[in-house]
Amino acid sequence: MNTADCLFCKVVAGDIPSSKVYEDDACYAFYDITPQAPTHILIVPREHVDSMDAAAASDKDLLGHLLLTAASIARDKGFAENGYRVVLNTNSDGGQTVFHLHAHLLAGRQFIFPPG
Ligand code: AMP
Ligand code: ZN
Repeated sequence: MNTADCLFCKVVAGDIPSSKVYEDDACYAFYDITPQAPTHILIVPREHVDSMDAAAASDKDLLGHLLLTAASIARDKGFAENGYRVVLNTNSDGGQTVFHLHAHLLAGRQFIFPPG
């Protein structure tokens, strides 16, 4: 896709306002605009990757970094011990609507499994 049209590339660039939670050289985390739990944070790579389906072996460190960042934010925000859920919706059946790879970090309520 043309990354100039990508919503989350615009968020990362600051062209679309967001409520920042955390950032570093590789990723940016911000609150979801339509929260599905008391805490709902999105963690996105600065570099555009369409989805998990588009991730390559060369993205291994980046994918690990997104997950470790989710765990770190959970500890910093104080909900790690109670628990949380990390979700990576992928393509149509996975419910992905924004095609810039992102991890949802959800917390603050009990989640059911399997998800709907
Ligand atoms: P997904 O459906 O897994 O692709 O997740 C996309 C998420 O992006 C949804 O939870 C949306 O609520 C969220 N979202 C869309 N636009 C924005 C925005 N401008 N700022 C924050 N979150 C957004
Ligand atoms: Zn993008």
